[in-house]
Amino acid sequence: MLTIREIILSLKNELPPEVKLIAVSKTKPAALLLEAYEAGQRVFGENYVQELTEKFDLLPKDIEWHMIGHLQSNKVKYIAPFVTWIHGVDSEKLLIEINKQAVKSNRIIQVLLQVHIASEETKFGFDEIELLDLLLRVDPSKLTHVRIRGLMGMASFSDNSAQVREEFKNLKLIHTKIKNSAFQEKAEFDQLSMGMSGDWKMAVEEGSTMVRIGSAIFGSRS
Ligand SMILES: *Cc1c(COP(=O)(O)O)cnc(C)c1O
Repeated sequence: MLTIREIILSLKNELPPEVKLIAVSKTKPAALLLEAYEAGQRVFGENYVQELTEKFDLLPKDIEWHMIGHLQSNKVKYIAPFVTWIHGVDSEKLLIEINKQAVKSNRIIQVLLQVHIASEETKFGFDEIELLDLLLRVDPSKLTHVRIRGLMGMASFSDNSAQVREEFKNLKLIHTKIKNSAFQEKAEFDQLSMGMSGDWKMAVEEGSTMVRIGSAIFGSRS
């Protein structure tokens, strides 16, 4: 069996240099994150606010933390003082609250808007029309401390790789369209968070700039 160190090094070796590896460590103990840290990994993703704040307290302070799970507005205040990226922003209310809490912490938070690309009903996220509507309507003075850097999506849980590839292609297409129609500063809308343990290679082929990899690094979750 490969060690966490070996897996991290081989993933970094396989990923193009411009693609960020997010080590998704939800439910895993801090000791395992430290093992990844000692292999040079500095970017970690967590899904639950309480777990994220506990790990932030325990672990080295040069870690770049990404909140990748579904986030409730009333919990933003707990992570705003230290979180660098929030993926999966799926409402205007949440976006405005992130800005408000970032102002309080005197920080800028990088955010990704979640797009619903999977066939499953249960996944959170906007569709293309809702995204454009939000971006054209929202008051810029309420977004002084967030940077909307791109989109995040989750493909269907499916063995049908042609379907998964189509969903990634679709997300990339939406990203390009939104960038060209809703942003003056197009260079800043430059991120596409897609790809997990089972489908990251395909996601990278389709234009991902951030892969969120959990079980392939830390083992399966119970
Ligand atoms: C858990 C999770 C991942 C990582 O999934 P793996 O299949 O373990 O790599 C990626 N993205 C999100 C949003 C997750 O919740």
